[in-house]
Amino acid sequence: MQREDLEKTLVLIKPDALNNSLTGYILSQLSEFHTGLHFAATKIVFVNRILAEEHYAEHVGKFFYPSLLEYITGCLHYPNEPWKRRVIAIIYQGADAIKKIRGIVGPTNPHDARDQKPGSIRSLGSVIPVLDASGKVIGDRSDNLIHASANPEDAEREIKLWFMPTDIPPLMRNYPVETINEYYYFKNNTIYAEYEPGSICVCAPGDLLWKSDLEAMRLLVQGLQAHCSVNAVVAKYLINKEDNVK
Ligand code: ATP
Ligand code: MG
Repeated sequence: MQREDLEKTLVLIKPDALNNSLTGYILSQLSEFHTGLHFAATKIVFVNRILAEEHYAEHVGKFFYPSLLEYITGCLHYPNEPWKRRVIAIIYQGADAIKKIRGIVGPTNPHDARDQKPGSIRSLGSVIPVLDASGKVIGDRSDNLIHASANPEDAEREIKLWFMPTDIPPLMRNYPVETINEYYYFKNNTIYAEYEPGSICVCAPGDLLWKSDLEAMRLLVQGLQAHCSVNAVVAKYLINKEDNVK
């Protein structure tokens, strides 16, 4: 397979799409028939706080950030049905995957999508006022049904945030991987090399990791600076695993 054929992008079918029963429609819009792309991985994810914060880290401090976390965790669309809070995470692969999917997805704001790209997936979304604690409108929130990686750097970061190498068939992987010989544990935002009471074992000898995660963990465990945060490395190991991580 040619390298360009291995281009990958992360798609998240968000809680509003699930709530509006648009999953089948979205999957058919993104199907191989329309895009020429292939599934490389998929999973149903309960989005805990750590994963939500890491995924949208670039928006920290913006007025819509708190509502964005509430949105992606499913709290907004399933306030009384926590068991329905989930997103469908998919990796699509193929030549020009990022651009092709962003084109079908459309502009971020559903009003813009309806104006500029009628028929795009986000043209079916909603724009909802965001209120402050006193009930005053401070802006709008875009409930836009779907996330799609914006560029190759974002795609790599996002894919490694949501998926482990073993979630992807071996011949479809294109980021370096390494088998580890050590244990790593996680508790309270910290990585440990030995078991701490109450910690979660994130990986053990023989596990296959993203090489970049392994490099980060080897620095973080010594209290040194790495290219990403502890939470960015461990988030994928906590997916659907740890009920206490809200
Ligand atoms: P996504 O990352 O979800 O695919 P995007 O890349 O088109 O969307 P981003 O700028 O990354 O847009 O914003 C992430 C999400 O934050 C958007 O999907 C939207 O829900 C929300 N958002 C972005 N900009 C605004 C804004 N100005 N006002 C309100 N919400 C916004
Ligand atoms: Mg984005």
